[in-house]
Amino acid sequence: MPAEYPLLGIVRHRMEVDGAGVTTLVAGAGCPLRCRYCINRDVLQKAPKPVTPAQLYARVKIDDLYFRATGGGITFGGGEALLHMDFYEAFRPLCPDWKLCAETCLHVPKEAVVRAAKIFDSFIVDIKSTDPEIYKRYTGADLSPALENLVWLFQHFDPEKVTVRVPLIPDFNTVEQQQESVNKVKALGAVRIDAFQYLVR
Ligand code: SF4
Repeated sequence: MPAEYPLLGIVRHRMEVDGAGVTTLVAGAGCPLRCRYCINRDVLQKAPKPVTPAQLYARVKIDDLYFRATGGGITFGGGEALLHMDFYEAFRPLCPDWKLCAETCLHVPKEAVVRAAKIFDSFIVDIKSTDPEIYKRYTGADLSPALENLVWLFQHFDPEKVTVRVPLIPDFNTVEQQQESVNKVKALGAVRIDAFQYLVR
């Protein structure tokens, strides 16, 4: 029985959104965090459609030419992308020429990050905050697994291919605290940092 992916949705023809080229976003269910402003909370609770690697490949290969001509590929998000490592290990051989990117909070077992570093070409890490209290208040979880995995990633993967997102989170951190997080991830090895503000409706 091949590994299945809990597919929530597919968005095609994204241009230069998460790296070079044309990408297709593949969103999957499940996340270890409970962020207060999660824009995907409703989506995460919907019943996903399980797909095998071959079934997903059949859905997304329509853009094969775009991917190869532009250096694009698939971005796996959700949800927490690194919850589905068995699936990616079976999916990767189907599309060796595509770039695969994972959107992750890194609040996953280290083993998942080690496996992911062998499969993905790039990562987008939403670290939220490097302040343990802010992180706990905003996500409901402990910061340490995510931070330890970020350190591991910088030591074992090209930092140029890791974008770290550091948000200003209304009511949870200040501009100064956001900057402290930026400084901290830089000190850990980040060279690509996306500091921005969450828009809360
Ligand atoms: S990490 Fe992302 S998907 Fe998970 S709860 Fe937070 S915002 Fe939602």
